[in-house]
Order: sequence, then C-alpha cells, then structure tokens
Amino acid sequence: MAEERSRNFIEQMIDKDLAEGVYDHVCTRFPPEPNGYLHIGHAKSILLNYGLAKEYGGKFNMRFDDTNPTKEKIEFVESIKADIEWLGADFEDRLFFASDYFDQMYEGAIKLINKGKAYVSTLSADEIKEYRGTLTEPGKNDPGRDRSVEENLKLFEEMKSGKVEDGAMVLRAKIDMTSPNMNMRDPVIYRVAHMTHHNTGDKWCIYPMYDYAHPIEDAVEGITNSICTLEFEDHRPLYDWVLIELGYKETPEQAPKQTEFAKLYLTNVVTGKRYIKKLVEEGIVDGWDDPRLVSIAALRRRGFTPESIRMFVELCGVSKANSSTDYAMLEYCIREDLKIKRPRMMVALDPVKLVIDNYPEGQTEMLEVPNNLENEELGTRQVPFGRELYIDREDFMEEPPKKYFRLFPGNEVRLMSAYFVTCTGCVKDENGKVIEVHCTYDPETKSGSGFTGRKVKGTIHWVPAKEAVKVECRLYENIVDEEKGVYNKEDGSLNLNPNSLTVLTECMAEPELLKAKPYDSFQFVRQGFFCLDCKDSKPEEGKLVFNRIVSLKSSFVLPKSE
Ligand code: ATP
Ligand code: MG
Repeated sequence: MAEERSRNFIEQMIDKDLAEGVYDHVCTRFPPEPNGYLHIGHAKSILLNYGLAKEYGGKFNMRFDDTNPTKEKIEFVESIKADIEWLGADFEDRLFFASDYFDQMYEGAIKLINKGKAYVSTLSADEIKEYRGTLTEPGKNDPGRDRSVEENLKLFEEMKSGKVEDGAMVLRAKIDMTSPNMNMRDPVIYRVAHMTHHNTGDKWCIYPMYDYAHPIEDAVEGITNSICTLEFEDHRPLYDWVLIELGYKETPEQAPKQTEFAKLYLTNVVTGKRYIKKLVEEGIVDGWDDPRLVSIAALRRRGFTPESIRMFVELCGVSKANSSTDYAMLEYCIREDLKIKRPRMMVALDPVKLVIDNYPEGQTEMLEVPNNLENEELGTRQVPFGRELYIDREDFMEEPPKKYFRLFPGNEVRLMSAYFVTCTGCVKDENGKVIEVHCTYDPETKSGSGFTGRKVKGTIHWVPAKEAVKVECRLYENIVDEEKGVYNKEDGSLNLNPNSLTVLTECMAEPELLKAKPYDSFQFVRQGFFCLDCKDSKPEEGKLVFNRIVSLKSSFVLPKSE
C-alpha cells in the first residue's frame, strides 16, 4: 500500500480550485439523517470527507440532517456518533444539527417570498405531482404562482402559526415549470407538519425540505465541498439556485460546491434499511449489530477494525461510475490488518481427546509458545502441557487419503511448540465415532531444544485437557444465498441462506483466552480470525463467545492497479 495512488477526480478538482483561488481552504462534512444505523457505504462517505479535510489541512464537520422529525430518533444520533468516532473521523468540537439553522432557513424563505421567488400553494400533494408534468411534457403553473408578495407572506405566516393543517399548504420555490430538470419545476421548500422535533420540540410546525435546507446548512457552516452521491446530480442546479438567490454565493462555481461520487455497493450484501428492519423484527438476526450484517456496528461486533475499513475504502477508490465490490475484498483487508498484529491461539473447534500413553500421569509442564511467528514483538506465552490434550477432530484420520500429513496410525507429527508424537490408534464408541486418539511422544524432540534428528511433515495444534476452557464459536456465512442472489425475483423478499450461522458450543480453548476482553481478536491457528463477542460473552463468569471474523484462506486476489 506504500505506492502513491493517483489523485481522484475530487482531489484534482480541489487542487484546481485552490490554485485558481475559488476558495482558500477546505471544509467538508458528513450529513447523515438520524433515521437508521450507518453501514459500510456510509463509512466510505465519512472517510472520504474526513480524509479530504485532513489532506488539505482543513476542517471536517459532523452534521445531523434532522429536518424530517417523523423518522428520526435520538438512539440513531448516539449510534452514528459512536460509529464515526470508532472509524477515527475526528470532528473535534464541530458537531452540528440542521435544526440549529431553522431560523436562517425561515428567514431565507421570507427573503425568497419578498423577492417574488417563492409562493404558497394550496394544491394537494397529488395535484402538485399531476401539475409537475413528465419528462416529455412541461408542467402546468400552480394557481398560487401569481399570488402577491403580501398574500404569500400572510399565508406563510399562517402556516407557521399552527393554523394550517398538515398538507393543506406548502411553500414552493418559483423557478420554471417547463424546465427539463424536474427538480427545478417549482419544488416544494417548506411543508406543514405538526410534530415534535427531537431537538427543537414544538417550536416549529413548518419544516424545510431537504433540497432547500441542505445548501443553507452547508453555507452557514462555511463548507467548501458538499460531497454527496450520484443520485443528487440532478439536484445540483437547485442547490446552486438556493445559494445564489439567498446571496450566499454569486455563481455555481463558488463554494459551497456540490460534487457527486458513486455509492459503494457490495455484491450480494443487504444494506437497505427496510430489509434489515424486517430481519430484526422477524428475529432472523439479533439486532442491527448482528455480525452477519454490514452496519458499522455489526462489522465492529464481528471484529473488523477501523484500519481494515480504511484500507478497504482506500482500495475501492472514488469514482463517478456505479460498480459493485466483492465482500471478499473486505475480508482481504481484515486479514491483512490482523495477521501480524494479533496473537495466534490454539483452539479445537471440534475437539477430540489425544492421550499420550508414555507421558507421566499427573505431570504438567509449562511450554513457551510464541504469540505470532511473524511478529516477535508480540512475545510468548506459557501453555500447560500434559498427558491428555484436545486436538481438532479433522487432525486425525484412521484411513487417511494420500498427502494427509496429520495424525493416523503409525504417523509422526509435531504438536505445535511441544513434542513429536506418533499415533498408535484410537478408541471408538458403539456408533463407531472416535472418542480418543492415542499416541506416544519422544521426549528428545521438545520444541526449542535444538533437536534435528528427523523431520515430520505435519504440525497440529492442541489444547491441554485439564486446563482447557470451553468456549462457543460462531461461524458465519453470507446471510443471503449467493447463488440465488439477494432478492427473490417473484416477491422481492430476501433469499436467505439457511446456513448463515453455525454455533459450536463445545470448542476447547487454551486458558490464555480467559484474559480476552470484548472486541479482542485473535488468530485461532488454522481456523481463522475470531473476536470476543461484546454482547453475549460474560468474561467475568467465564462465558466466552467468539465470532469468526474471517477464515484464513481465500481465493481473493487483489486487483492490480493500472
Ligand atoms: P436514506 O435512504 O435514509 O436517505 P442514506 O443511506 O442515503 O439513506 P443518509 O443518512 O442520507 O442515508 O446518508 C448520509 C450520507 O451518506 C449521504 O451523504 C449519502 O450520500 C452517503 N451514503 C449513503 N449510502 C452510501 C453508499 N452506499 N456509499 C457511499 N456513500 C453513501
Ligand atoms: Mg439520504
């Protein structure tokens, strides 16, 4: 990642604007509506905006776009703040709310009315839609379009005073009912809504519409670059119209300036609020932070790190063309981040006893085990070793296929950081299931003793039986069925994967893992990266639940950059 990446189109535009003196500093913002949890796509927007501010020595604002009190909840405000802080996008003391500027927006509306650029309409929502025309037909003028300034001021005052019912009147910008851009056909800029707002309480019963409010929010905060996603491209003329009519700028080229980029889409991944809400309500997932989802809270709970998400967003780049990225790239990033950073522990997911028949009964010795062979800085730990161990069931086969180098009768392997053992056989229950594997060890072969007598082809991990800690491990697959695709073609519902969650309750882990705290992650040798679940673990009671973040191997290859 050390190589210089080429500058994206937004950076090129800012470089040019700064050189030409369009503005002399950079100020960006992230403006979520507090109506849901943030997902990986929002992370892209956050890190892009924050990254640009940082790169140009500018400022980054956090602003809740809370102009629609129906859907907003304080719960979301808190979760969004926590997510942004976790991602490392530092907004310092610049936390704002669109509702902080309701006064300016109201004054702006009065100004537009006085300029003859806004009027009160008494058409219903359906009529307004009908009058708007279509892409091929111009719209029709609203009967209220020619009202006098005085009358508009009076009616708007009535809207504000609470005398008008919801939906009975709106304020429209007077632009052009024949514009080829539908957004410019006298858009509604204020509506009546008798609702309590989480920030302003009952002060207002008129609320500004997004397209009118957003440019004012940007202008009041001194934002230079209002970066949004492509679906707002057709709204840009309205953004500039509002700012120019209200005197915040003179030409579209000046700041605040809207620039659009393509959304981040992940292939075969559900991000839609509506769908996730349904999964939560139906109990298919255990909340917005279920580790199978891609909300930021879910990714954090699963064990993703802010570094891995930053790397992912960086690899995705910034573009004007919509495309979809493979989830495997996100997995690649977390593997890259954790493989050197985190200790490697021994856990038997499907344990079976291994008995070393010639090891003295009752004896325990402490073995020094390196925490990560690729990173000496992580040091070593002591692991007790004795006559009875647990190994993973798949590390023994009575009748092995070719090229199987693990335990089978007569074969010798290394027990990781311990001794060579030779398999002597196994014990089965009445159903033929192996319940014990037997072996003998060679005391000469102790790890670190300098033994060079002979070599073995296989190394397997183990857990001391007496000191083992029983833990739960949760293995995940995609919540949707990748072969069928995300959505059912017939009814639009999700195609769920019945195997998206596998719970293993009998896993045996080395005692070191008792020290794990929520969100701590580890490599479990040969099994993948795991993270201590923050919701269902109770470390103080010895109850440990680990989420598999990702397995160790993948067929994913990082695309070559041109
Ligand atoms: P809603 O349907 O409620 O508007 P939203 O996902 O657009 O949902 P916002 O709170 O409006 O939610 O989004 C905040 C910001 O995040 C916006 O600037 C939006 O453009 C950006 N954003 C949303 N989804 C993505 C995505 N998939 N990729 C990149 N940016 C996104
Ligand atoms: Mg939105």
